[in-house]
Amino acid sequence: MFKKILIANRGEIAVRIIRACREMDILSVAVCSEADKDALHAQLADETVCIGPAPAKDSYLDMERIIGAAMAVGADAIHPGFGFLSENSKFVRMCEKCNISFIGPSAEIIDKMGDKSSARKTMMEAGVPVVPGTKDAVYEALEGRKTADEMGYPVMIKASAGGGGKGMRICEDSAEFEHIFETAKREAENAFGDGTMYIEKYIRDPRHIEFQILADKYGNVVHLGERDCSIQRRHQKLIEESPSPAINKELREKMGAIAVKAAKAAGYYSAGTIEFLKDQDGNFYFIEMNTRIQVEHPVTEWVTGIDLIREQIRIAAGRHLTYQQKDIHISGHAIEVRVNAEDTEHDFRPSPGTVTNVHFPGGKGVRIDSALFTGYQIPPFYDSMVAKLIVYDKNRELALRKLRNALGELVLEGIRTNIDYQYDIINHQDFIDGNVDTGFIERFQKERE
Ligand code: ADP
Repeated sequence: MFKKILIANRGEIAVRIIRACREMDILSVAVCSEADKDALHAQLADETVCIGPAPAKDSYLDMERIIGAAMAVGADAIHPGFGFLSENSKFVRMCEKCNISFIGPSAEIIDKMGDKSSARKTMMEAGVPVVPGTKDAVYEALEGRKTADEMGYPVMIKASAGGGGKGMRICEDSAEFEHIFETAKREAENAFGDGTMYIEKYIRDPRHIEFQILADKYGNVVHLGERDCSIQRRHQKLIEESPSPAINKELREKMGAIAVKAAKAAGYYSAGTIEFLKDQDGNFYFIEMNTRIQVEHPVTEWVTGIDLIREQIRIAAGRHLTYQQKDIHISGHAIEVRVNAEDTEHDFRPSPGTVTNVHFPGGKGVRIDSALFTGYQIPPFYDSMVAKLIVYDKNRELALRKLRNALGELVLEGIRTNIDYQYDIINHQDFIDGNVDTGFIERFQKERE
């Protein structure tokens, strides 16, 4: 097993990984930017290295500095968390060269799955249903328009390098195609330095259903059931739950088997997620694979009893999975709410600043993953998610009841947050009924205005 792991991340996920290391008797090393010297992850780790100025490109995205820090402290592995360098194959190759284990899949797998248009191709060839659309990448608007015309509108124009909902646009009409294509392409070039695009049929108001998988380096793959992440604003998830109210045992087995097949087709190892869209007629289609741990992993941990970070570390160290599919049981119901420091009244703009008071709820079945504390200054440079509240109970109704109480008890003062907004969502009749799709937030927003 590894002796010392460097965590190339910040915030709650860095804290989550430090805790896992401690439980496994592995020393943890935090890296921090100059803006994060007082951050919780920097305080909690066994060692901390400041790797540069506040902007992420000069610190959390600076590969040389991070690898340099790992070598200096003698870390034998790096955990990338999510975001930042977690899906950067160049970084993985650098780790390999320096004899440091990357806690995640290989560079080749990241390349294969990270390019969404090539991932589609891999999945099509493996017989996994994908959203109808282009087989190859599209570079020119005219070429794309031709395919879209044949396919029929509306279509979704998407960036091969896309992530976080960026570089993605709906096009309803052939006459608008070129303009929308160019806009999405420009956004992709700016965000990812890559304007390669592809086109999918636009699926109206689907549910976002994703399967957690775990795979070791010896070809053993299991799935840990699904997460329903249909509550999204601008393609960004806000609330996630497991199991999905829209999936029965039979469908779970069917989709789960396809997720396992997809992971095998990719030659995958580590923790990963296969994302699907499920349309109103019950068809489901692969949209992408995420080759990292995800924000919403705690809901799966709760319904399966499996610690996903621990498994990632074990797998990277060359251990075998210790269970087969038949040993995995989904029980109870878990829901996660993302708490963001943002102003929901003013276009959800980030609201950094000093947190003057924090009260976290607790009790049986309540989990908070956060790096906040009273007096903490949320820096303006990074993601606005500051806490995750996760609840667990025997069934959805009880979990929802618990969530209502816990979210009602949560206090964060000094900054603006989306707590009240989330409270209104979980009390909306459609959410209570489990009757939601990815169009829910847009309708909810209109009702509020
Ligand atoms: P990203 O990698 O940027 O998160 P995804 O491909 O995972 O992008 O899609 C994010 C979300 O965008 C999905 O959960 C869904 O709500 C929406 N979406 C993506 N593709 C389609 C599509 N073809 N039709 C309808 N909605 C889509």
